[in-house]
Amino acid sequence: MGHKCLTFAFFQKSTGVCASVGMGYCSTFNQDSAPKPKFSMQISQHTVVAIDYTLTDDQGTVLDTSEGREPLYFLQGVGQIISGLEEALEGKSAGEQFSVSIPPEKGYGLRNDSLIQQVPRDRFPADAEIEKGMQFRASSPDGPMVVTVTDVSLDFVMVDGNHPLAGQTLNFAVDIVEVRPATESELDHGHVHGPGGAHH
Ligand code: ZN
Repeated sequence: MGHKCLTFAFFQKSTGVCASVGMGYCSTFNQDSAPKPKFSMQISQHTVVAIDYTLTDDQGTVLDTSEGREPLYFLQGVGQIISGLEEALEGKSAGEQFSVSIPPEKGYGLRNDSLIQQVPRDRFPADAEIEKGMQFRASSPDGPMVVTVTDVSLDFVMVDGNHPLAGQTLNFAVDIVEVRPATESELDHGHVHGPGGAHH
């Protein structure tokens, strides 16, 4: 329930104009029947967005979550997060919660078997302990990439240049914490400043 103040208009004989005056009289009205005001900003290109999220795979295993951490801040529409999540967020406002299932094509891509390579063990420093699961920065014709060691033998190391989440359907539960316009300098730098962003 809210309230609405009534204003009464009367004709002022002395000035010949209509004047209105608040009589301090308030009537209550049922807010439920009134359309919900859209005061909150909607997510669109170049808004700064903060979300709490939990990411699970199709087996329900939690792959990543912001729980226990600060919300994730990012600039919408510049590819800082996967495209499927940007699409799902578009038009939503702070306070909204939703779940979305994102196919690999709009997540971290499909797996590409040509990114799996057998590298001779002697390409790595002899004293380096190479273990399954380790990640390295490697250079490729397409620029720097992160590779994950998938297998180690005496002579070879198998490395996989696919993103660890490539080929996976990503199930996000999202809670939108904040939506605000980006500042000039944030648009300039292409990233968020202040809480959850860069401090400089
Ligand atoms: Zn900056």
